[in-house]
Amino acid sequence: MKRGIVWFRNDLRITDNEALSRAAEKCDEILPVYIFDNTYLKTERYGSIKFGARRIQFILQSLNDLRSSLGRLGAGFRVEVGKAHEVLEQIAETFEATEIFAQKEAMKEELEQQELVSGLTNCSTHFFHGHSLYHPDDIPFDIQSVPDIFSNFRKKCEKMAEVRPIFGIPQSLKSPEGYGNETPSLQELGFEKKPIHQKAAIHFKGGEREARKRLEHYFWSTENLSTYKYTRNGLLGIDYSSKFSAWLSAGCISPRMIFSEVKNYEKSIKKNSSTYWLLFELIWRDYFRYVGMKYGNELFYPGGIRNEKPFHKTDQRKLHAWKDGETGIPFIDANMKELNQTGFMSNRGRQNVASYLVKDLKQDWRFGAAYFEQELIDYDVTSNWGNWAYVAGVGNDPRENRYFNIISQASRYDEKGEYVKHWLPLLEGIPKEQIHKPWELSGGQKSKYGLHGTVYAKPVFFNSKW
Ligand SMILES: Cc1cc2nc3c(=O)[nH]c(=O)nc-3n(C[C@H](O)[C@H](O)[C@H](O)COP(=O)(O)OP(=O)(O)OC[C@H]3O[C@@H](n4cnc5c(N)ncnc54)[C@H](O)[C@@H]3O)c2cc1C
Repeated sequence: MKRGIVWFRNDLRITDNEALSRAAEKCDEILPVYIFDNTYLKTERYGSIKFGARRIQFILQSLNDLRSSLGRLGAGFRVEVGKAHEVLEQIAETFEATEIFAQKEAMKEELEQQELVSGLTNCSTHFFHGHSLYHPDDIPFDIQSVPDIFSNFRKKCEKMAEVRPIFGIPQSLKSPEGYGNETPSLQELGFEKKPIHQKAAIHFKGGEREARKRLEHYFWSTENLSTYKYTRNGLLGIDYSSKFSAWLSAGCISPRMIFSEVKNYEKSIKKNSSTYWLLFELIWRDYFRYVGMKYGNELFYPGGIRNEKPFHKTDQRKLHAWKDGETGIPFIDANMKELNQTGFMSNRGRQNVASYLVKDLKQDWRFGAAYFEQELIDYDVTSNWGNWAYVAGVGNDPRENRYFNIISQASRYDEKGEYVKHWLPLLEGIPKEQIHKPWELSGGQKSKYGLHGTVYAKPVFFNSKW
């Protein structure tokens, strides 16, 4: 009798899950487990904690969905809190398992876990790449020569690499009698429930089934995929972009599954620049992962992978104004309110608030990246830190000193001020020509947004270029 542990990490799905499929092939009984590693659960850095309650809630929902999928196939499921290698060692001992199967991760903390698990003497370990669209063995570069410019990476991959077919769902699974436990609650994990505002663009719900529903909606019911390229810079509503990010981040859906559905869509509905563009964005996601694998911890350095001289200070007043959405710049504040109240922000919003923090407020970019890590439901280590470094000018942007002029960005992408009014309702009634300007309080009062009726915050910074 061969027993193998399937250690679920950021791959909370049963479809296209190589670790699960290989374990099912090789073992008579499997022991699926997810571990909240308490080494990292409450880690704090740059004034923010690693996990926010909304992301934990999303993971818990995903785990419950996974539990029921595994149950349907005949397997039990455990969700544990502890140090990954200790929990795995104990399960192996109790159930006499001799193998561990898991997804390979790319960055420091996950690699540290992996190393400790690989060092276990009572089990052999098998790690599989499942995060990216292109498998690392198929890209036309070894990791150390991944180009520092995205388009050089993309063009060669598109020409020379094939996306692998997906792994199907195992037909049936078996676990030892009585294997399983209950998923802990949010409170048991030490978090307070954080609601999602009713005005949110999307009320993310975790799980593979929810990911499928979203794909079904975005591709097949509405055919929004056909216009994605032209709507993706939107700010308001659920359908301007795919909103796949949170499910991709927890691994409820794989990029290869999306790829294969895009190909089906292109065959049966339409193939155009929009259907291509969704894949283009998934290649961006891959790219940041490969950059993370190439540079490791340098991705988190103040001078980033370019080893730029850090020039930023930290001013708590400015940082807090930015985090709270009280800078006095309506477009920035609306985006930060959306993040704080929903756990999501559009790509256009993310680029602008990141640029404003670094290039206008001149704050250390890592404080912004860490705050996103805390607040985003779709937080993904390499997509987040890679994009932040890019905007901060210490990453992979080939253009020197790219600068987002917040006022012109706001006027272009929120021409009528609808987005700003959605999140800052006190600006209702303000003429659209004025709405994207920074707001000054009369008489230089130091009032914050909302405290004095119709007035708005005094800008913490005013850029004379605007
Ligand atoms: C400062 C900053 C921080 C970011 N942090 C994260 C993060 O923590 N997690 C995250 O998933 N994305 C992050 N992004 C990328 C992007 O903003 C989000 O993936 C996107 O807004 C999610 O919405 P969507 O799924 O509707 O995207 P869509 O436009 O529908 O794109 C489809 C998918 O492509 C991928 N993608 C799109 N744009 C990017 C990009 N620029 N970089 C990497 N992947 C991309 C995502 O997986 C996304 O789900 C960040 C961008 C910036 C500028």
